[in-house]
Amino acid sequence: MGNSQQKLIEKAAAWIGDSRATVCLTGAGVSTESGIPDFRSKGGIWDRFDPKDFEIRRWLASEDIQRRYWEVAQDGYNLVRNAPPSSGHFALARLSRHGRLKLLVTQNTDGLHQKAGHDPCKIVEIHGTSHVCVCVGCGSKLPRSSVHARVQSGEAIPRCKDCGCLLKPDAVFFGEGLSPEKLSRAVEASKEAEVFLVAGSSLAVRPAGGLPERARKAGARLIIVNEGPTRFDAKADIRIQGKTGDVLPALVSLVLG
Ligand code: NAD
Repeated sequence: MGNSQQKLIEKAAAWIGDSRATVCLTGAGVSTESGIPDFRSKGGIWDRFDPKDFEIRRWLASEDIQRRYWEVAQDGYNLVRNAPPSSGHFALARLSRHGRLKLLVTQNTDGLHQKAGHDPCKIVEIHGTSHVCVCVGCGSKLPRSSVHARVQSGEAIPRCKDCGCLLKPDAVFFGEGLSPEKLSRAVEASKEAEVFLVAGSSLAVRPAGGLPERARKAGARLIIVNEGPTRFDAKADIRIQGKTGDVLPALVSLVLG
């Protein structure tokens, strides 16, 4: 860790230490050190799959895309369910346990914050979860593991046993609306934040990527920890370039002593 990065971490820790309301937004970058690729980095998910296949209308309209999706998703789900939390996930869980993090909004669907011991009541999974499946017809939900097992045993396109409609992971596809309750909880917390911390997100995906802007406009100090560039770098009060697995534990240790 360089001298200038250390200084930025110290300043960020002092702000979080003084803050009565810190909100954190995480993205795929907090999970890359757990072995789950992000979307936009080199070697990330968009280097291997066509984003259009995650567009809900195309997906619903094409059996071919659904079949391919479930084939590919089998590997993705195996990766996610076996992934260990990273030191970044553990650091944020520790900050929360000590009452220093009002809310964690995550764009990730991998459940690794919860696996690291973060209280689920203090997490908004704004894009849903990969660990549950939902029926697009009747809305009934079931564990992803049971759908995974059905696909493994030859059901190429799994359907709801109650109504026969398609099943999909309870994670938001492109073109799908976000849960209004989750979005409004995230927006309200952002507007009340004294410090808004971004960790591991390019902030390219809206509306989640717009939360730092809302927080900043309402008077929050904005800290961004990310390896690559983000859409909001120029407006950050502190911009720390580095790995979340290195920076977050250092930051949290300074805050909590
Ligand atoms: P993104 O791919 O747009 O951005 C990830 C950012 O993290 C990049 O800017 C990259 O430079 C940075 N990064 C990668 N590894 C890092 C590390 N170790 N330390 C610090 N920074 C690191 O991802 P996004 O902003 O989360 O948005 C993409 C969408 O993809 C989101 O909706 C998210 O739900 C979804 N997604 C989720 C997962 C997951 O659940 N783990 C994985 C891939 C994509």
